Amino acid sequence: MKIVLLGPPGAGKGTLAKGLKDHFNLMHISTGDMLREEMKNGTDLGKEAKKHIESGGLVPDEIVTKMVENKLSNDKNVKNGFMLDGFPRTRTQAEDLDKILKKINLPLDCVLSLEASLKIVLERLTGRRVCRACGALYHIKNMPSKKEGVCDKCGGELYQRADDNEKTIKNRMEVYTESTEPIIDYYKKQGLIKTLDANKEAEEVRDFTIKLFNG
Ligand code: ADP
Ligand code: ZN
Repeated sequence: MKIVLLGPPGAGKGTLAKGLKDHFNLMHISTGDMLREEMKNGTDLGKEAKKHIESGGLVPDEIVTKMVENKLSNDKNVKNGFMLDGFPRTRTQAEDLDKILKKINLPLDCVLSLEASLKIVLERLTGRRVCRACGALYHIKNMPSKKEGVCDKCGGELYQRADDNEKTIKNRMEVYTESTEPIIDYYKKQGLIKTLDANKEAEEVRDFTIKLFNG
């Protein structure tokens, strides 16, 4: 299965991807995670990305697209199926993705559009915590770790992303509405869009999606 996950920040793309990964054994390609990894390692790419990410803006198309192209063209697991999470985010990225997938002969099967209300999205983002070591996701109210500040899975330290503050979240939402939402239409025209009610709890969204694919 080759899937794109679309939706505003906080809709639950990362959480759903992690849920589906275990079930369908799909590769999870998250440009946000890849960029944060570059930032953590202090690479040139990471330094460039940091400026954009911390203000809630987008990293330039060329940089992100190159990163995704490298992954899709070089990782041999890609042909067993993948979920793209956080990419494409602009019309240009969507068009370039089509070209890349055409080149490697792996066209998309579907685009899942996660719809969630602004109220829910804000709640999720402001309460989100991430494991520094393994990337597991938590929420201080909806999905707390057993011990505060410590990852259940690996014992790593939980932290709050620098861009999960109210001011940056507001920018990210505006960027989403302006740049990313229009590509829903782009995929609608290709007949690829499936809409999910992402206001529901994580498990429910995951189970619904699994049923959707199993028919
Ligand atoms: P969220 O979906 O919660 O906003 P992500 O982890 O997907 O978070 O992305 C975090 C940030 O990384 C974005 O706000 C943006 O600055 C940058 N980023 C991630 N993916 C892309 C992309 N495809 N194009 C441009 N910037 C990106
Ligand atoms: Zn962990």
